[in-house]
Amino acid sequence: MNKKLLIVGNWKMHLNVHQSSLLVHRLQERIAVHHDVEVVLAPSMLALQPISMQIDRRYFRLCAQDAYYKDEGGYTGEVSFAMLGDLVHYAIVGHSSRRIYFGETLDIVRDKVQAAVRNEITPIICVGETRQERDAGEEKQVLHDQVTTALMNLTGKDIENVVIAYEPVWAISAFNGTIAKPEDAQKMIAYIRKQVSDLYGKRAAESMSILYGGSVNEHDVRSYLSLPEVDGVLVGAASLNYHQFSEIVKVAHQLQTERK
Ligand code: PEP
Repeated sequence: MNKKLLIVGNWKMHLNVHQSSLLVHRLQERIAVHHDVEVVLAPSMLALQPISMQIDRRYFRLCAQDAYYKDEGGYTGEVSFAMLGDLVHYAIVGHSSRRIYFGETLDIVRDKVQAAVRNEITPIICVGETRQERDAGEEKQVLHDQVTTALMNLTGKDIENVVIAYEPVWAISAFNGTIAKPEDAQKMIAYIRKQVSDLYGKRAAESMSILYGGSVNEHDVRSYLSLPEVDGVLVGAASLNYHQFSEIVKVAHQLQTERK
């Protein structure tokens, strides 16, 4: 059987609780339950609790956009993965905005991945090179470092519940990104899978879901999802618009139906 396609909407620091609830309402009206597509929503930390009570879990799974790697303690302003355990199924870890604006190092990302796994939350680990790194021909080295550090100390069993998202920073809308060619996404995701295979074996690498993210919208999503290496998409800006996001889910389901 084909892997489920994973469609993740990252709402970033947009929408207050009321607006978030309205968006969920609109999405629930438009998105049907598909067994071959998993739809994941990542609202702000503030909206997670009310939305967890609102959503129909047959349609959606919840995702945190970030959390702190310590489980408990005097860390003013932070929320831990341990606290999110009952609320979310997934957590985004190492998003480029965390790495760039909040100085998240490779080691911090590694600690967050471990905290997520320890608390039975599936991390969606974001990796990707900047424009400068790409222009300098360093993209593979950057991905190698990001992937191998993030997965450090995870067991073969842990790795079954890890997702990686390849998000070239130069393609993300919030950084005025330009659209990546599907062949580029394919090539780099194949490279990431090779890293996982070298560390954990071919079977683990093949069963891992690796997503693409970077200005994906309802018009170009098919070109990414059709690629053999791509198991889903991480969507930022277009996930805030219920027409666009529900259309993206529809395209994913159509593709899965065509593959049967
Ligand atoms: C993201 O935030 O992970 C993202 C891919 O954003 P956008 O789709 O807006 O480029």
